[in-house]
Amino acid sequence: TEILRLTDVGKRYGNVHALRGVSLSVRQGEITCVLGDNGAGKSTLIKIIAGLHQHSEGTVQVNGEEVRFGSPRESLERGIATVYQDLALVPLMSIWRNFFLGAELRTGVGPLKRLDVKRMVAIADEELTKMGIAVPDLERPVGALSGGQRQCIAIARAIYFGAKVLILDEPTAALGVKQSGVVLKYVAKARDAGLGVIFITHNPHHAYLVGNHFVILNRGNVSLDMARSQITLDR
Ligand code: ADP
Ligand code: ADP
Repeated sequence: TEILRLTDVGKRYGNVHALRGVSLSVRQGEITCVLGDNGAGKSTLIKIIAGLHQHSEGTVQVNGEEVRFGSPRESLERGIATVYQDLALVPLMSIWRNFFLGAELRTGVGPLKRLDVKRMVAIADEELTKMGIAVPDLERPVGALSGGQRQCIAIARAIYFGAKVLILDEPTAALGVKQSGVVLKYVAKARDAGLGVIFITHNPHHAYLVGNHFVILNRGNVSLDMARSQITLDR
């Protein structure tokens, strides 16, 4: 089932028409890849979905219901978690604290406030282990981990706090081949857990490794939109 749909979405910044007529959707258990060069409108698209900017044209729907987010909190409350490339975690803060960072923003986690530190460390440990990214010492600053591990932790955190849709902002852009592999595997895991994923990337190869659906943005327009089944190497 479709979780998030944009229909003919446009965005103007004054005279700049950063997006126009953009339609795309993401379904449960699927990854929609959005590719595009610098200036194509990828950040603008993320900001609209994440509640940082409002669209000027068209409609955004979550589970079939039209929404217009006035803040990141409103987007989160609809189960949309955005994992930004650099801002995902606070480097000097411990791994477990990062795991709970922003928890108060999410709905339904009130009781967390009454949890003690030991309990929170235990939960973080259990969740990360369950998701296949066990980290030996959760008291270490998150900045000590590799870029790939940090992305995975940010994704694991979003899943734990109930995200239904993940918006990934170039999660492999700053990573090498091996770390990219770690993150891509993890993104596939989130998909297999039933989340809908919008995977923003410059990298067609990374998109092809995990994507179910591909949308190319070109100067604010969708220049290509195709399903995986439409891509074939056969003649
Ligand atoms: P991408 O993330 O794909 O590089 P952006 O969404 O950042 O693309 O930008 C799309 C277009 O909108 C670009 O032409 C950019 O200069 C313009 N733009 C982005 N943000 C603003 C803004 N706040 N004010 C004016 N123009 C903007
Ligand atoms: P933020 O929400 O982070 O404050 P903006 O929406 O102001 O960001 O800008 C988003 C991106 O668009 C930034 O990367 C910025 O460099 C670029 N941008 C901002 N203002 C303009 C502009 N007037 N013209 C072109 N690009 C811009």
